[in-house]
Amino acid sequence: MRIPIKEGLEQFMNWCGPDVALGEWGLDDVPVLKQNLVLNDLDESWPGRWYDLQRVFTAQRPRGEGESMTLESVVDRLGIPKEEAFHDALCDAMYTAKVCQFVDIEKGLAQYPDDGEQLRELLCPPDKDRADFTVWSGYVDGEAWYTDATLRQADCPICGQKMQLDPDELWIRRGNNCLYSMGECKKHGPAMIWMRRSRSDGLHYTYARAVETADAELNAKWKKEKKAALERARRKREREAADALARVKNAGR
Ligand SMILES: [Zn+2]
Repeated sequence: MRIPIKEGLEQFMNWCGPDVALGEWGLDDVPVLKQNLVLNDLDESWPGRWYDLQRVFTAQRPRGEGESMTLESVVDRLGIPKEEAFHDALCDAMYTAKVCQFVDIEKGLAQYPDDGEQLRELLCPPDKDRADFTVWSGYVDGEAWYTDATLRQADCPICGQKMQLDPDELWIRRGNNCLYSMGECKKHGPAMIWMRRSRSDGLHYTYARAVETADAELNAKWKKEKKAALERARRKREREAADALARVKNAGR
């Protein structure tokens, strides 16, 4: 039976109740659910809690080398009988529940990191000496790290004084969710400023920042990267200017 999505969402919300915590295999489903709640004018603050069960599972049963973490391959590895189809919402939900019987779910949820803790794990790995970890959440703007100066204004990791940011205001992007630049304390020299963002509910961004005192090697690496980035930006500007000139000339014909 097919029903309009809004009606389906409302029925699902009523069935789950207001205090439910959802579990998903991976991190895609709840953001899409919340985006659909917004589009259908329903309460997108629901559900208030949700967990990536793949993460919970991996924490207790670490992934072996070359092992795929798709639901089907985990079902295979655990020897769960495959009686239903995959990639069907109800069947996948039931397979996920069966997979979760192989872990201590209570312990897994108790240890589950919030957004800030997840960003801390990424920004401050144990092999790096990073300080001054700070988190901001609830941003709708995915580019707030460019528009909101408070996010970028890092302090010196040694004395805590405001650092001088890169004079060219250059931030280099690493992947989709990481930015970095070099700041400088008058007294203690350069320190790398690292930023990360996440969007776990599919609607709001959380930003985090940490700083790392830069030794000669890190500073030299930054200078090299900066030179290349400025060169790329210069070439892009030249190309754009040439294109604009060509358009003007063509229009004049
Ligand atoms: Zn300092």
